Amino acid sequence: MKQINLDTSIQYIKGVGEKRFEDLKRLELEKVSDLLSFYPREYEDRTKMSTIKDIYDGEIIQIVGILYGSIKNANIRKNFSIQKATFLVEGGKLDVVWYNNKYVDRLIKPGKKYILYGKIKGAFGKYELQSPEFEEYTENTEGGKIKPVYHLTKNITQKFLYKIIHEIISISKNVEDAIPKDVKNKYGYLKTSDAIFELHVPTSFDMIKKARNTMAFEEFMYMQMALSYIKGKTKKEKGISFSNISIEDVIQNLPYKLTDAQKRVMEEIENDLESEDVTERLLQGDVGSGKTVIAALAAYKAYMSGYQTVVMVPTAILADQHLESFENILNEMAQKNIKIGLLKSAMRKREKEEIISQISNGDIDILIGTHSILEENVVFKKLGLVITDEQHRFGVRQREKVLSKGENVNTIVMSATPIPRTLGLILYGDLDISVIDELPPGRKEIKTTYTDYNSEEKIFKFVEQEIEKGRQAYVVCPLVEQSEKMDLRSAEEVSEDYQKRFKNLIVELIHGKMKEKEKSQIMERFKQGDIDILVSTTVIEVGINVPNASIMVIENAERFGLAQMHQLRGRIGRGEYESYCILKLAGRGKTAIERAQIMKETSNGFIISEKDLEIRGTGDFFGVKQHGIPDFKIANIFEDMDILAKAQLETMKILEEDPLLEKAENKVLKKKIEKMINTVL
Ligand code: ADP
Ligand code: MG
Repeated sequence: MKQINLDTSIQYIKGVGEKRFEDLKRLELEKVSDLLSFYPREYEDRTKMSTIKDIYDGEIIQIVGILYGSIKNANIRKNFSIQKATFLVEGGKLDVVWYNNKYVDRLIKPGKKYILYGKIKGAFGKYELQSPEFEEYTENTEGGKIKPVYHLTKNITQKFLYKIIHEIISISKNVEDAIPKDVKNKYGYLKTSDAIFELHVPTSFDMIKKARNTMAFEEFMYMQMALSYIKGKTKKEKGISFSNISIEDVIQNLPYKLTDAQKRVMEEIENDLESEDVTERLLQGDVGSGKTVIAALAAYKAYMSGYQTVVMVPTAILADQHLESFENILNEMAQKNIKIGLLKSAMRKREKEEIISQISNGDIDILIGTHSILEENVVFKKLGLVITDEQHRFGVRQREKVLSKGENVNTIVMSATPIPRTLGLILYGDLDISVIDELPPGRKEIKTTYTDYNSEEKIFKFVEQEIEKGRQAYVVCPLVEQSEKMDLRSAEEVSEDYQKRFKNLIVELIHGKMKEKEKSQIMERFKQGDIDILVSTTVIEVGINVPNASIMVIENAERFGLAQMHQLRGRIGRGEYESYCILKLAGRGKTAIERAQIMKETSNGFIISEKDLEIRGTGDFFGVKQHGIPDFKIANIFEDMDILAKAQLETMKILEEDPLLEKAENKVLKKKIEKMINTVL
């Protein structure tokens, strides 16, 4: 037997073996240390025993009983059988039922005591305990304890996880404390090894909470430290202050009046930009609220003050579109002579070099581009403002890298996704937030409906009618390739279906695996009206603006997050036409319909996000990953504000005293942070 330590592969744990090892990998479990930090998702209170008095509909009970008579099996139909039994419990009898559990009578013997755990169903004095878990009752039964409940995957059961974690739990004592003892003592946190032990082998709910808070605190601290480390390189003191020059002339030339919200936000941004402090502002606004014009105005302000601006966007399509919008707002409407450049990876080498030299000699005033602007050879003459759109698509390193292209530059980040305050703090520290909480006037509400696949022909007819009127349609699908497992209709298939159905129309497919150039060309044709139906994966999610497209069909809508669907839906309703969004649901699951109903009733992205959260729980919601930082295992960005505050305070203190973590007492910490920077950020 191999000596097991924290780095040992879990395939060497007794009972794992090759096959289970593969299964466990799906839970991202490979090493013993992974298993130790695979914290339970919740705990079942098995400390209390129920009595006959606790039996009523819906109650989850744990009760000791003796099988009374035998277990009777009834085959109802093929593949469906019922097993019924009666147990003697303190104070009376209890009926128990299992389904498709034919051999349960081999496991439960008359005359022996069992602990049963499950849910009661019934009414009017007739109750049944349904499909209970059971276990023989002896002195050292699990019953009477708090039972951890883990996330599962195919072939992996609670029992199995429980068993292998117990196999290695004693290794937890090898986990060293990285955070100084006095810091932990101050808040009553546990030793790391004790906390881990407690989470898997709980003694009381109070202790679980303590252990949880301890580990959440640690996670926050490591994240904060790692981020401070990276950020340290772009440390700012005084910022660039822009001139106090009015930008009214451009505003006056817009074909519309700014909304009150836009005016307010613009004023906040202008004040910021004129001040001596570095501007670090998050500009939030629902899809269609008009963030682009604000960005263009801010860039104009930079231009008037003699500085260059760079606008970083996540996709080439969005870059094309921003170029057009900026040119339209600043050059055509306002008749300024501002040089706006575009940089994306799909350009010819020559073209790229030309742009890059214009950036460095200052010919280009505003640069719009994708990740390619991060390349080493992109050097600005006088960068003063960095704007990132759809901020959450970029990783921490990318954000810091673009900032390092100037000195103490001002930054504005734009996002349509409401970011929870805690996450904002983690990502940006104390960032100022401006919110555009109002849509431009005259927007038509998008009519949203949902149906299942039985009504497909009706939907087709409707789409046809609208296209005959001159409109265009988006059809959005969740995946590109046929995946047998998930029974999803792939974008390719869907596109073929539509082509077959609409022989006289032009149907095109666009998806994320295409070359950027190809994507841009298709988008351009769609914009020109040369494509009637654009079938796509979620590549159209961000920022596309084609006012004539007024219909959106979302295939397998049950697979999308609500916030994401809201973003998608924001692609229509951009022109003068009545717009329609049709959600196609596979099946009629309760949650799917509940979510579709929210989409139908609500048009406010912030409310949609909140409701989505209610239904789905915090789990993968704002998938912290989406924001470019790794998920927390235990810390909860919604609920652990107070812990985060403590972690931030203590992080600052430690780094102030020992910025490079060179002191002996910070050795473990340093190792931990460096590992984190190299592996996850
Ligand atoms: P988003 O905030 O989603 O990036 P955009 O900036 O793309 O939104 O704006 C959406 C549309 O609204 C654009 O066509 C833009 O020209 C228009 N728009 C922006 N501000 C106003 C306004 N104040 N009045 C009327 N239309 C506006
Ligand atoms: Mg936008």
